[in-house]
Amino acid sequence: ESIILAVDGGATKTTLGIQTSGGERLFEATAAGSNYQTIGANAVIEVLSDLLQKANFATKLETIDVAIFAMAGIDTQSDFEALTHIVQQALNSTHFNINKAILENDVQAALLGLVGHQPGVLLISGTGSIALATDGNGNVVRTGGWGHRAGDEGSGYWIGRQILKAIFRAEDKLEAPTILKKLVFEKLQIDSIDQLMTWLYQADYTNAQTASLSTVLQEAVSLNDEKAISIAELAAKELFLLVKASLNKLRYKGEPFKVFLNGGILKYHPLILNSLQQLIREDFHHISLSLCDENPIESIVKRAQY
Ligand code: BGC
Repeated sequence: ESIILAVDGGATKTTLGIQTSGGERLFEATAAGSNYQTIGANAVIEVLSDLLQKANFATKLETIDVAIFAMAGIDTQSDFEALTHIVQQALNSTHFNINKAILENDVQAALLGLVGHQPGVLLISGTGSIALATDGNGNVVRTGGWGHRAGDEGSGYWIGRQILKAIFRAEDKLEAPTILKKLVFEKLQIDSIDQLMTWLYQADYTNAQTASLSTVLQEAVSLNDEKAISIAELAAKELFLLVKASLNKLRYKGEPFKVFLNGGILKYHPLILNSLQQLIREDFHHISLSLCDENPIESIVKRAQY
C-alpha cells in the first residue's frame, strides 16, 4: 500500500489530503488560495509550507510515495517553471521524503483521476473556469482558463465582477436597481457605496474577495431578480461554450462521452447548473453528465495510479 499526498490549489482555497492507495484518509486540511497569478509566489510558498508542516506534524509520516500538486495558475511553461520552484521551496520546509512528485494544472490532474485513459471532459467553475477534454487516445484539448485578467467567463470571479458592475451601473442609473446591492451590503456588513469602494480597493485586496460575492447570486435568483437571472444565464452559456468547444476540438461525432462538472459555482447555483445541463443536452446526444460533488482531492489521489 502506498501513501499519496494530494494538493488541490485553487484561487480561493487550497486543500491538502493524505490517503493510502487503499482509500484510507490519513489527513485533510484546507487553507487560503494558492494561485500564484493572483497572490504571488511568496504567498503561495507560505500557504503550501504551512499545510505541509501541519500534515507532517499530524501524521508523523516520513515518506510519501507520490505527491500530486494540482495547481490553478499553471497555464504556460513559464508558470510550470515558477510553480516547480514554489513547490520545491515549500517541500524544503518540511521533513517529508517524497519519492515521486507530480506538478500539474488543477483540471489536468482531476480529469486524469476521473477518466484515466478513457475519453471525457471536465469543466471546472470555481474562482476561475476551464475545460479539459481527452479522446482517450492521447489527444488532450484545453479551453478557457485564461485567468482573471482576460478570461475565466462563468467563474466565481467573473460572476463577482458582474455583480459589482450591476451595482455600480444601477447607482449611475444606467441599469435598473437590483436586489444584489442589498445582498452584497448584508454579506459585507456595509451600508454605503463608499464602503463598497473601500472594501474593493483595500490594500490587501485579493481576487478571492470578488469571487466570494458570487455566493449572493443564487439568493437573488430565487427572489426573481432580473439582473441576477441574466448573470446566471450568461454564466451558463459561457460555461456551455467551453464544453462545446472542447467536444468540437476533439471532432466529437456522437459517440458515448462523459462530461464531468465540478467547482463551487456549479455546486451551489442550481439555475446555472440546470441551464448548462439543458444547453449541453440540446446540442449533444449520448453525453452522460455527472456533477461530481466528489471532493477534488479524491480525483487527484486517483490520478496517482497513472
Ligand atoms: C486558471 C487556470 C485554472 C482555472 C480553474 C484559471 O483562473 O488560470 O490555471 O485551471 O482557473 O481553477
